[in-house]
Amino acid sequence: MSAQTPTGTETPSIATETSLEANVCAKPGCNKPANKVCAACNPPKTHYCSAKCQKNDFKIHKMTCVGTQKVNCFLIRATAANGGKEDVDHIEQYHLRSHGNYYAERDELKSRLGWRMAVEAGQFYSHDPNIKQWHYVVYHTNVRGKKVPINQIATRCLGKTIRGDVAVIRSAPADGLYKIPEEFSRRELLAAAEHYKTHNASQINSNHARREMCGMMGLPPGYLDGVPHIHIQL
Ligand SMILES: [Zn+2]
Ligand SMILES: [Zn+2]
Repeated sequence: MSAQTPTGTETPSIATETSLEANVCAKPGCNKPANKVCAACNPPKTHYCSAKCQKNDFKIHKMTCVGTQKVNCFLIRATAANGGKEDVDHIEQYHLRSHGNYYAERDELKSRLGWRMAVEAGQFYSHDPNIKQWHYVVYHTNVRGKKVPINQIATRCLGKTIRGDVAVIRSAPADGLYKIPEEFSRRELLAAAEHYKTHNASQINSNHARREMCGMMGLPPGYLDGVPHIHIQL
């Protein structure tokens, strides 16, 4: 894996922790008791007394905070390994060796994750409305049945029930016009997942898909807005 360079200046959100252990604020010089944690961290999470201390420490913390490190794939587990309930507890870094090769990616997911098959479940979009060049693609093994837990994050972002673990990568419309950043951080993915808590997934996703389609067909953006369903015969 290539060296992971933290980027971005936005501080991740802060969460209140319910653990009974006494912790001290990680901001150098502040020794106050800390019951808040950096929401992007992997366990053991970094503790702070306040959002202010977290912000002031972020320049240093982002060097080690896993939430800011970029990889080309993330797994969203239906069940968090550590029993956590937050979105962040379900998202694991992954690294696809075959990234960029459509068929090899699927083979790799199947063999490494033991999936019966690897199919595209759908796509969702960045929380940033200015990003129109790429989307997140969700792959899953298309399992059904009540015994397989619902993947809450994927279900929310795709607007349809998805069961089991999924893999997420970045992709772009097939017109090849865009050079997209292949690697992304857990913090970016969390921001998108958060966005879908307050926005209607089917609405955002179908409007984006229509706009991408307009781009490919050379139509003005928005030309197909409101069209209930389109099917392109290839
Ligand atoms: Zn962190
Ligand atoms: Zn502090």
